[in-house]
Amino acid sequence: MEIDRPTDLATALEALRQAPDATLLAGGTDLMVEINFGHRRPEHVIALRRVNELQEVDGTIGAGVTWARLEEGPHRALAQAARTVGSPQIRAAGTIGGNLGTASPAGDGLPFLVALDAEIELRSAAGSRRLRWDEFLTGPKLTALQPGELIHSVVLPEEIPARQEFGKVGVRNAMVISAVMACVVRYEDGRTRVAVGSAGPTTLRMGRAEEMISAEADPSAAALSEFQRLVSEEVRPITDHRSTESYRRHAAGVIARRLLERCLR
Ligand SMILES: Cc1cc2nc3c(=O)[nH]c(=O)nc-3n(C[C@H](O)[C@H](O)[C@H](O)COP(=O)(O)OP(=O)(O)OC[C@H]3O[C@@H](n4cnc5c(N)ncnc54)[C@H](O)[C@@H]3O)c2cc1C
Repeated sequence: MEIDRPTDLATALEALRQAPDATLLAGGTDLMVEINFGHRRPEHVIALRRVNELQEVDGTIGAGVTWARLEEGPHRALAQAARTVGSPQIRAAGTIGGNLGTASPAGDGLPFLVALDAEIELRSAAGSRRLRWDEFLTGPKLTALQPGELIHSVVLPEEIPARQEFGKVGVRNAMVISAVMACVVRYEDGRTRVAVGSAGPTTLRMGRAEEMISAEADPSAAALSEFQRLVSEEVRPITDHRSTESYRRHAAGVIARRLLERCLR
């Protein structure tokens, strides 16, 4: 196996230009599992860990920023999500870029990005492009990343509401992949955004629930119940080894309502 270990972005992009189909390695917490199970056998790996430009958190969040750093970051819901990822060892190695690269519907970093309509900046030797989250995440474990491109950073909007909450439901409290998780954000003018993961082919936005609750300046108990019902109706979960379709549907509504209630306090 050939391995490149660039220490700057230009060298990484040049390596990718020469080997557009090379496999990118960040923390390796997803990739090494796939290699260990024999699901992937890369011939050429470009390790991004030492590329400083991917570690920056300054308006944008560099793809190489680890969960351990996000735990301490300024975005409450993203920090909440980061704290739920794996163990301290996984959080020290795993990155937001790797979570996006894997594009699992169970990726805990994704609901925050989806709720805020974040953009993903991709770079190649030929230039850069920005895709909105729903242009980037094209299906379960599928993205719009093209050969020769890497994820450079996540670009968040300028307006980020202080009221933001993330929550996750799993079979136990720690070291668990979500059965369902969600992020709710509420702006001062009442606009509310809800993103739910592990409940569809990609992380999903709950458009009808958002529209209904955004019109409520001071939601009553009946409005909260209707919000919960709409979320349960809008998700598109499946039954798999982690949970059932019906439990996920129920849990999505419950968790979204609880997160909204916390935002309203
Ligand atoms: C024990 C364990 C527990 C876990 N728990 C959780 C959990 O609770 N929640 C959760 O969401 N995930 C969990 N994961 C999965 C994993 O830790 C995360 O998805 C993590 O964010 C992956 O990041 P990484 O840097 O390790 O990615 P890597 O494994 O290095 O890469 C993952 C994929 O992304 C691609 N990639 C990486 N960086 C880039 C880039 N800059 N540009 C383009 N493509 C790129 C790689 O080629 C690969 O396809 C767990 C994994 C393990 C082993």
